[in-house]
Amino acid sequence: MATTISSVLGPIPTERLGYTLMHEHLQVGWAGWDLDGTWKGAGRGERLESCTKALAELAALGVKTFVDPCPMELGRDPEFMAEVSSRSGVNIVCSTGLYKEDLGLPSYFRQRSVEEIAALYIKELTEGIGSTGIKAGLIKCATGVGAITPNEEKALRAAARASAATGAPIITHTDNGSLGDKQLDLFLAEGAQPARIAIGHSDGTADLKYHAGILERGAYVSFDRIGLEFFMPDRIRRAVIAGLIGAGYGRQLFMSQDHACCWLGRTAPRPPEVDKLMANRRFTYIVQEFIPQLLAAGVSQASIQTIMVENPRRYFEGAR
Ligand SMILES: [Zn+2]
Repeated sequence: MATTISSVLGPIPTERLGYTLMHEHLQVGWAGWDLDGTWKGAGRGERLESCTKALAELAALGVKTFVDPCPMELGRDPEFMAEVSSRSGVNIVCSTGLYKEDLGLPSYFRQRSVEEIAALYIKELTEGIGSTGIKAGLIKCATGVGAITPNEEKALRAAARASAATGAPIITHTDNGSLGDKQLDLFLAEGAQPARIAIGHSDGTADLKYHAGILERGAYVSFDRIGLEFFMPDRIRRAVIAGLIGAGYGRQLFMSQDHACCWLGRTAPRPPEVDKLMANRRFTYIVQEFIPQLLAAGVSQASIQTIMVENPRRYFEGAR
């Protein structure tokens, strides 16, 4: 069992993780954003300021740890994260791993073997990212709609091998709360432990049979797009979460928001009706609004403590 994990500022004891947001982002840019010299957005200093301010607000609400599972090709910047962590006092954990094929997984990696990708993940987990000396603390995986593509499958198998070799946990992206069961099949076939696997964006569906199927095999189910009513109304999220807690699965759930403080490069303009459904997009929403509503719906404070504090620690420890 691991008792320390890699944060962007170095190893920390798992007991210091405390209240943890399991899936948030400081900054995200679609692969290629850094090639767009016509984009004149916020510079590094300005982005540092806004991320530090946002995390200081979370710290004031009692949040101790911010997990940023940005895939390596979507603007991940471990040195930026380290600066924000030391300025704000919030632990930040960054990830190794690749995104789904339709919006990421650069051509270089499509040509690599499972062994080559696994070796890179293991290097980032055990030696550090590039020459920064900053180690990733978990592994990101992603799949799209319909079926896992052959290239995504290579990245998933590599993630499972790197998890089995290092003990690092895996966190995933799914579209529409689908294919998480298939992700789990691949991870377990490659020797990863279910206690180290979190199937992400599972609030893309309200299908309790899908959730229970994953939970019964011992993995975590992550409801990590809270506030994004574009994907699912929050009242349905509350019903699903309260139902799964009531059914005895509280020790295998995560809650987070998948919010990003800064976007790198241009993004497509959003129609006003979509904008309306994004109104709750802020890091503090879960603590200030969503959790109080869960409590009002009858979920106990003890269950919230389990989900926000104990589950992240147990997951990073690889314990049951
Ligand atoms: Zn995300």
